[in-house]
Amino acid sequence: MQQTQTIQVLDKAFAVSVTAAEIEKEVKRVAKEISRDYAGSQPVFLAVLNGSFIFAADLLRHVDLPCEISFVKLASYQGTNTTGNIREVIGLNIDITGRPVIIVEDIVDTGLTMAHMLETLKGHNPASIDICTLLLKPSKLQVKLDVRYCCKEIPDDFVVGYGLDYDGFGRNMKDIYTII
Ligand code: 5GP
Repeated sequence: MQQTQTIQVLDKAFAVSVTAAEIEKEVKRVAKEISRDYAGSQPVFLAVLNGSFIFAADLLRHVDLPCEISFVKLASYQGTNTTGNIREVIGLNIDITGRPVIIVEDIVDTGLTMAHMLETLKGHNPASIDICTLLLKPSKLQVKLDVRYCCKEIPDDFVVGYGLDYDGFGRNMKDIYTII
């Protein structure tokens, strides 16, 4: 009988849920879809730090297009209006005006982060914006979001590994693990 591989990150135990081999297969599939859909154009990939750094690195190596990549971060700050916490896109140091943009995200949970990001990026007048995520939790979505590229849909459980962290740790693990 095959034993489930479990690990400890800080005070929590996790069991492997998406193996490195499956991740590789799905990343290659999505890269192929992007290469096909964007044939003839030069997209700008915008990878959202920190969680997407490993996914972005692997994805880009399988994209067969002339393309650029830039890295952005999202900062929350206390706004003065009633919506409270506003997320700001920082580090957008590339002109995306008139360019096709592909956002590279680690995981879409409620979808609020991506919704804010889309809103901000639209202000820079790109030709188009698509979302490419490693993971998606469909049952948690709170907003209507068009996620064009997704490597894997997962249940509503906390995951770490392959760039995703638990309190800063676990990003370096090759597989993806779910909390148990
Ligand atoms: P959303 O705005 O879609 O609710 O949140 C997206 C962000 O929440 C992700 O970029 C990620 O930083 C964090 N997040 C959501 N679910 C998980 C999870 O299961 N594991 C980890 N490590 N981060 C998560």
